Amino acid sequence: MSSDTRRLPPWLRRPWPTSHRFQHTEQTLETLRLETICTNANCPNKGECWGRGTATALILGGVCTRNCRFCSVGTGHPEPPDPSEPARLAQMAQTMELKYLVITSVNRDDLPDGGAWHFRDCVLEVRRRRPSMRFEILVPDFRDNQAEALEILAEALPFVFAHNVETVPALYPQARSGGNYELSLQLLQMAQDRFPDTPTKSSIMLGLGETDEDVTAVLRDLRRVGCDRLTIGQYLKPSKDSLDVVDYVHPDKFAWWKERALEIGFNWVQSAPFARSSYFAEQENTSA
Ligand code: SF4
Repeated sequence: MSSDTRRLPPWLRRPWPTSHRFQHTEQTLETLRLETICTNANCPNKGECWGRGTATALILGGVCTRNCRFCSVGTGHPEPPDPSEPARLAQMAQTMELKYLVITSVNRDDLPDGGAWHFRDCVLEVRRRRPSMRFEILVPDFRDNQAEALEILAEALPFVFAHNVETVPALYPQARSGGNYELSLQLLQMAQDRFPDTPTKSSIMLGLGETDEDVTAVLRDLRRVGCDRLTIGQYLKPSKDSLDVVDYVHPDKFAWWKERALEIGFNWVQSAPFARSSYFAEQENTSA
C-alpha cells in the first residue's frame, strides 16, 4: 500500500510513445480547438491512444459544474455550448479517419437539459459527414432531467450508452460528492428500458480504499440495472489536489476481477491497471 504516486510499481511504469500518428492527433485537436478527456483528465493512456490515432472528445467545454476529487478537469462556471463544436468534431472524425468515436462531457448542471441536446447535435453532425461511424456516448448523470435527456438522445441512436459509477458508494462523499450512486444506477436502468437494443456500459476505479465486498456489490448492482459492459482500472492521482492513491492493485487481481465480472454476467469486460472507460472501446469483444 502506498499513497506516494511518485513511486509507481513496475507494472505502472511505461515509456511515453512518440510517433508521427501521435503528433497528427495532437495537431488536429489543436487546430480544431477541441477538448479531450485524454488531456483534461491526464489519462495515462494518451501516448498509446493518440499514437493509434484515437481520442475521446470532451464536449461542452473544459469546465465542470462539479468537483469530483478523483478528477483533474477544471471546475467553475462554464460557457454556453458552442454551436460550432459539432462541425469541428465532424471535421476531426474526418481528418483522423475515425471509425469509432467516444464522446463525453463535463457535468453541465447549469443547463436545463444537462447538455443532452449538444450530445445529440454532435452525434448527428458527425454521422452526417461519416455515415458509417459508430458511437459511444459517456454521459453525466443528468441529475434532475434523466427522462428528458434520454428522449433527446433517442434521436441520435445507435450508440453504446455509458455512464460511470466511478467508485463504490461508500467512497462517494470523498470522491464524488456531487454524484449520487442510486441516481447513476437509475440512469443506466432507464437507458436500458428506453433503448433495449443499446448496450450500456459503466466503469469503476480501484485503489481508492474500496473493499472487495464493496466492488462485488457494485458489479451486482450494475448487472441488476441491465448494464452489459464494464471497465475496471487503477485510480491514478491525476493532479496534486486530487485524492491520494490508497492501493496499487496488482495486474493479477485485475485479471481475477475480469473473471468475476464475467461470472456475474457482463458480456464485455476490460479489467487492467490502465483500463479506462474509453480504452479500446471500439473492440467488439474482450475475450483476448
Ligand atoms: S483511454 Fe480514453 S481518455 Fe485515455 S487516452 Fe485513451 S481515449 Fe483518451
